[in-house]
Amino acid sequence: VTSYSYSFLDQDRNCPEAARHLFILKDFKKTYTVAGGIDDHRELEKHLRNGAPLPPELAHVAPMANSFRNSGVEVEVAYAVDRDLKPINFWHENVFIRGKYDIVRHWPETRHAFLGDWKSGKIRESSDQLELGALLMTARYPTIERVTGVNVWINSGPKLGTPYEFRTEENGPRWAKWLKRIAEIEQRDAAVEWERRESGLCAYCPVKVCPNYRGG
Ligand code: SF4
Repeated sequence: VTSYSYSFLDQDRNCPEAARHLFILKDFKKTYTVAGGIDDHRELEKHLRNGAPLPPELAHVAPMANSFRNSGVEVEVAYAVDRDLKPINFWHENVFIRGKYDIVRHWPETRHAFLGDWKSGKIRESSDQLELGALLMTARYPTIERVTGVNVWINSGPKLGTPYEFRTEENGPRWAKWLKRIAEIEQRDAAVEWERRESGLCAYCPVKVCPNYRGG
């Protein structure tokens, strides 16, 4: 049974053949290089979860991380839905779509929630990952009416990116958009090669059997 995630769908948009190998065949694995030997996400998670000191390389993020911490956020929150878009345990075998989010805050009294995602690279704003997170979160907490999603750019300040507002009343067309992408994938035969999309990303791709492989 195939389950989907933002990473899968994003990879499929960049190169379907890479997505087939990485997420369906699972015969190659992406290795994530950690800048300067520091795993930003892991360090920030430990800091927010239990106050572990941040390494000097992340000292510039401390004031923002502390303000998140003082406001009582949850960290690394996992959401998942089944094929009926009903909430389900993240590790359940019937998971259809799943996602983990770095910083989450929920105010039940005002039916509002916040989703934040640490981003290490250069600023390249996109609401996609946060939008899928808002859909998964509101499936879990149907009383939420509004989710504010923000990318937090670690190496540019840190800086809060564009705030995106996702209203639950607009969930229908938003789900339809993601489900259409998944339906397109499900029409393909996973036993035969999918479209190869050569790009600069080939340099980081681990799919050695592809003619465009460049040692990534
Ligand atoms: S090397 Fe490039 S074309 Fe080949 S699978 Fe990877 S990303 Fe796609």
